[in-house]
Amino acid sequence: MEEAFLHFVWQHGLFDQLRCRGTHGELIEIVNRGYPNFDSGPDFLDAHIRINSQLWIGNVEIHIHSAEWYQHRHHKDFAYDNTILHVVLTDNDPAFLPTGTRLVTIELKDHIPRSLYGKYEALRQNFLTIPCSNVIQKIPQSETEEMMETSLLYRLHRKSAYLLELLKQMDNDWQKAFYVFFCRYLGFKVNSDAMENLARITPISLIQKNRDQPELVDALLFGQAGMLQYPIKNQYYQTLRKEYQYQKHKNNLVPLNPVIWKFLRMRPVNFPTLKIAQLSAILQTNYHFFSWLLDIPEPREIKAVLISRPSAFWKTHYHFNKKSAPHAENMGNQSVNGLLTNVVAPVWFAYGRVHHQNRYSDAALQLLHSLPAENNKLIRQYSLLGFPNQSARDSQGLMGLSEFFCIPKKCTNCAIGKCILSA
Ligand code: SF4
Repeated sequence: MEEAFLHFVWQHGLFDQLRCRGTHGELIEIVNRGYPNFDSGPDFLDAHIRINSQLWIGNVEIHIHSAEWYQHRHHKDFAYDNTILHVVLTDNDPAFLPTGTRLVTIELKDHIPRSLYGKYEALRQNFLTIPCSNVIQKIPQSETEEMMETSLLYRLHRKSAYLLELLKQMDNDWQKAFYVFFCRYLGFKVNSDAMENLARITPISLIQKNRDQPELVDALLFGQAGMLQYPIKNQYYQTLRKEYQYQKHKNNLVPLNPVIWKFLRMRPVNFPTLKIAQLSAILQTNYHFFSWLLDIPEPREIKAVLISRPSAFWKTHYHFNKKSAPHAENMGNQSVNGLLTNVVAPVWFAYGRVHHQNRYSDAALQLLHSLPAENNKLIRQYSLLGFPNQSARDSQGLMGLSEFFCIPKKCTNCAIGKCILSA
């Protein structure tokens, strides 16, 4: 048994409280079990426990075996001074407080219903993607909504954590951090590091200064990507190459090693060449794109910028040295929605948190609500169980549920798990 289960049992009072006595025969009346402590120190704070008719107010510590009190060195830690009750599955060593007083202990091993433990083990031993799939009957809407919203917030926190790290590295300059974060996502998984490096070594200010010269901006980005070092003959390539040579010398630029770019096993629409061309087009259309996004423009205005058309060269190329049949050179709907979901919403969310401005977090949630739901194998599995998937807000919530609760099997921390276990 895991301690998390015992926490769950205590938190929700799922044991026979009337028959509980202290290990030394003390009469125990649980008036209030306290609230969980997510920081260091005792597991539950501010509990109200009547012991032999006297009311005690203090903390509760939980262990599978009482000897863990010593293994965790609580007997020497004065943060545990105010512990009034030790809740254990098995009492194998009486616990003493740092002050030397014996700690009143209750043993739960005979007071937890077998059926509850059976249900918990069934979830723990189940290795399906969604461990409760077999036992979930009908999910009460309130629990589903609560869990999806909680999971969505976890996911937004996790995504924005990387942005906040970039922000630290970039001296709190939101525009620069946003630019790097945006480029990283544009590289998808395969070229995300390379795209991030490209953004790091190509100052946004240099692009902004030259925004009125499309070929110069293309030259800066492709040149810094290390892609203008080949003897390719076409005129567009030669123009960019010549321009970059000049800019490189003038601005002391050092390009990336082109071997970092990956093209293998990718759909041509995701080739880094096309992504860099699209980035260039976006920055030419709206040269203060990243600071403008922090003004919370309408989603349709952002979309209009994201679908900016790169140089006509890219209409018939995915690569510099090979012509292709004509194709769309700008971003498609799916890519645009992906950027809004995975970049713009997390940035607004993070900005709102840092500046304590709810309108940004509200805008992030509204934006997700207005975007189409993502559809993948994982989400379809949740849908089959009755989870709603009407918008990106739902799909992001479902992915968060999987990432933070179902995969690590945190069913005892999940509102749905609580319903299943206590039914
Ligand atoms: S975490 Fe919640 S939704 Fe996921 S398997 Fe456990 S009970 Fe089900």
